[in-house]
Amino acid sequence: MPAPYFVAGSASAAALIGLELADLARPDFVAAFTGNQVPARARPLAAVYSGHQFGNWAGQLGDGRAILLGEIRTAAGPMELQLKGAGMTPYSRMGDGRAVLRSSIREFLCSEGMAALGIPTTRALMVTGSPQRVMRENVETAAVVTRMAPSFVRFGSFEHWHYRNKPEELKILADYVIDQFYPELADAEAPYLALLREVTVRTARLIAHWQAVGFMHGVMNTDNMSILGLTLDYGPFGFMEAFDVDHICNHTDQGGRYSYGNQVPVGHWNCYALANALLPLIRDTDAAEDALGVYVDAYGDTFDALLHAKLGLASAQEGDRALFDDMFGLMQRNRVDFTLFFRRLGELRRDVPDHARAAADAPLRDLFLDRAAFDAWAVRYRARLAREAAGDDERRLAMHKVNPKYILRNYLAQVAIERAQQGDFAEVQRLLAVLEKPFDEQPEHASYAALPPDWASHLEVSCSS
Ligand code: AMP
Ligand code: MG
Repeated sequence: MPAPYFVAGSASAAALIGLELADLARPDFVAAFTGNQVPARARPLAAVYSGHQFGNWAGQLGDGRAILLGEIRTAAGPMELQLKGAGMTPYSRMGDGRAVLRSSIREFLCSEGMAALGIPTTRALMVTGSPQRVMRENVETAAVVTRMAPSFVRFGSFEHWHYRNKPEELKILADYVIDQFYPELADAEAPYLALLREVTVRTARLIAHWQAVGFMHGVMNTDNMSILGLTLDYGPFGFMEAFDVDHICNHTDQGGRYSYGNQVPVGHWNCYALANALLPLIRDTDAAEDALGVYVDAYGDTFDALLHAKLGLASAQEGDRALFDDMFGLMQRNRVDFTLFFRRLGELRRDVPDHARAAADAPLRDLFLDRAAFDAWAVRYRARLAREAAGDDERRLAMHKVNPKYILRNYLAQVAIERAQQGDFAEVQRLLAVLEKPFDEQPEHASYAALPPDWASHLEVSCSS
């Protein structure tokens, strides 16, 4: 890439591979992480995969623009370093192998934000840019995001060899994944079946985390599903703002296949696609069907536990489900901001005399148009809190540790992107710093927790990146 420059870096991602933020901006690192200079001992490669897009078999897809630089052995295990957007690969098809600054900044910020939220994800080390022009819906400039993960193998990596009718390659890949990342399964009676079951569990748990924080991936195609259960390939993602279970964050997804509510069944559907690809190794359809069944409980149990924590409930009791369902129904009818609701719920005081409640609850209550409906729900919530051991202060602390104040709202990313497109990268780094402490009050950054401004209602994100 011509005239490469440093855009932003993540100190916490750098620390994972023994680097410091200041290192990343050095010209030799910028050259290496744009793909201009291959580091000594690196053996770059691109990994082929296929997949189902929007429910349809799409054949070979990639990887058309991600190049693996190599693997670093760290104290926490192996980390692969991958350049996304560093140019064409043997699998680029009609593409240019490039990524634009806009989508690279979005992937960078969201990867690191998700990690700080405690949600399994690939990491992002840094973004580099170049004046190189790239044609999308508009002319934009090129950028590269350096990603890190123990592995970038996807469901689609298995589908590729299955649909190509290459059972030997399929087995090599499955054995590699078990050996490297699921060694405890190697001695199982049926290791490939055990792999399917474990990946199904991890996928279900991942999606429970997404639902609990209001994250929408936007393109849950099977080629974007990590075999390690990580959030992978950040494109037209979004965080829920005004709550709507049918919200579609990806402008390209007109049918809403990947809407917020559909993420749960689609995650399961994708595990079926993986099972189908693994069947030549598993050789037992009934057993595979059985293994896939673990999705329902793995999702339900995880989501239930996360919700209990979000509401400050240390115990599970009868009637909790109805309390949660009615809460979501109320949020839906009132289009309540997802993040603000849970954060302010942590501030609710339990023992307030009836006549003082409207005033005491105002910050939370005012998020609802139908105040009477909120009041009725709050009476039930208070009654439920009375059956908990923790007092208000203890509960607020616990809730604030699981209900973030700061998430990557689309408009925040947009502001940082527009400044970066003018050559000012400070806002990217500043926003990252806020997102790295999503549960802290950070009063000096309160504006980053604000509802989206009016202009943001016109923001659209699509698959074009
Ligand atoms: P995505 O929808 O971003 O997950 O991309 C689907 C596939 O298309 C991936 O395998 C990408 O590698 C490939 N792809 C996306 N954009 C490009 C591009 N500009 N050049 C080459 N391949 C691309
Ligand atoms: Mg992808």
